[in-house]
Amino acid sequence: MIIEDKEFGEVIVRKSPLARGARFSVSPSGRLQMSVPAYTSAFLAKRFLASSRAAIREKLPLKDPASQRARDAKKKLLMKKAKEYLPYRLEYFAKLYGYQYSRVRFSHAGTRWGSCSSNQTISLNIGLMQVPEPLRDYVILHELAHLNHMDHSAAFWAEVGAHDPRYKDHRRRLKQFSPGV
Ligand SMILES: [Zn+2]
Repeated sequence: MIIEDKEFGEVIVRKSPLARGARFSVSPSGRLQMSVPAYTSAFLAKRFLASSRAAIREKLPLKDPASQRARDAKKKLLMKKAKEYLPYRLEYFAKLYGYQYSRVRFSHAGTRWGSCSSNQTISLNIGLMQVPEPLRDYVILHELAHLNHMDHSAAFWAEVGAHDPRYKDHRRRLKQFSPGV
């Protein structure tokens, strides 16, 4: 579970059957995380956090909570924009080129701009909202082409190229951006 804190931003709460009280640590991304006994409610987790605030500030090497909060806010905004825009753009190209997918999902972490699973679910990274439109379109066309070719064969690239003649350039320019938010 995630709790929202005015000082630390999103705090990751892990329930552990072995935990006796609350223990605080730092996640790999620099976020505050806590492990708590399995029965702990969000309300109780917030109380644990409130009573340990001073010790957390003093002892844990957290990333600047203000920048963490700014990142959370940015992620929320990107997610909102992505949900408004990406399904519409995906639908547009799918209709234009006669593709059928089952659904679209949104991702926000990691190193991938998009993916296409064998059950025809297309995932698009919300970070796409931060790259120039031609590069965004290239990713969408790339994932759509995977509906017909689940690999990166010559036939796959020929199909991408048929819909995005400048795909090589777009693919190269995309490397200057990172999909992680
Ligand atoms: Zn691919």
